[in-house]
Amino acid sequence: MPELPSYDDVLAAAARIEGRAHRTPVLRSRLVDEQTGARVLFKCENLQRMGAFKFRGAYNALARFTAEQRRAGVVAYSSGNHAQAVALAARLLDIPATIVMPLDAPAAKVAATKAYGGDVVTYDRYTEDREALGRALAAERGLTLIPPYDHADIIAGQGTAARELFEDEGPLDALFVPLGGGGLLSGTALAAAALAPDCRLVGVEPEAGDDARRSLREDRIVHIDTPRTIADGAQTQHLGELTFAVLRRARPDVETVSDAEIVDAMAVFATYLKIVVEPTGCLGLAAVRRLREELRGQRVGVIVSGGNVDPARFASLLAGADRA
Ligand SMILES: *Cc1c(COP(=O)(O)O)cnc(C)c1O
Repeated sequence: MPELPSYDDVLAAAARIEGRAHRTPVLRSRLVDEQTGARVLFKCENLQRMGAFKFRGAYNALARFTAEQRRAGVVAYSSGNHAQAVALAARLLDIPATIVMPLDAPAAKVAATKAYGGDVVTYDRYTEDREALGRALAAERGLTLIPPYDHADIIAGQGTAARELFEDEGPLDALFVPLGGGGLLSGTALAAAALAPDCRLVGVEPEAGDDARRSLREDRIVHIDTPRTIADGAQTQHLGELTFAVLRRARPDVETVSDAEIVDAMAVFATYLKIVVEPTGCLGLAAVRRLREELRGQRVGVIVSGGNVDPARFASLLAGADRA
């Protein structure tokens, strides 16, 4: 196994992305605080470039390419945000990008990837293996494959969001992080271990796909079928080798939430904070709302991981929300 990333790698990533990625704001809502009884700090990566934290890892990884890798180009597979992140980072660094995306990826994500100059190749997410397709394209065309989470430079880049949050807000009692393949949570764990070792770390998965929770319980990487959930950024089938290695050392708690709880959190963001958050970006707040009793009186961080959702889908999901 390649060497695990460290907090020094997060620091190096922070220097690389400085001036390229936004230092996103931390928002609060008095109404959310009243409802939960906690002081909740939202790190708004929905306001990051291309609309999600994934720009951090992608830019960090591509900025480290050799001249030869830059000339040949990058290939990435993704259900959406990693694709856009790689396409945008590649454009900024003048690297050709080929992106493997599922046929049923949200239209806004496909359009944005193309708009950033990415060459899109599609596959069927329920029958085809995107990793194999990505590897084949890499081999045929001499491209460098940058996976969405299982890569040291991606993990280190994702850790810069939590680093900024701790720098801006000081220590927290708990930090809630959306969890798919574990790149964001792994990077966050590296930053938390260095800057806030007493902070309770909570990864949040959709109920339909609780593979990470099972993996940490069983101490092996559990594979599942592609989960059917509205949280399309967390429709991963398994943790990566690197992310699992970082997480089994960090021992985060893992919570799950239902699609209905995700939609309710989306309504809270829209109504109280006036921000558009995609379903996967709502995982953290949904878990905070579920666990409000035990969080009473605590300072709680939430990474709001992304905001890329088609406006029509956003509207129809909100129309189905119970209450804010
Ligand atoms: C990719 C993504 C996640 C999950 O990140 P991992 O590093 O795969 O755990 C969460 N939220 C959004 C918006 C994403 O795009």
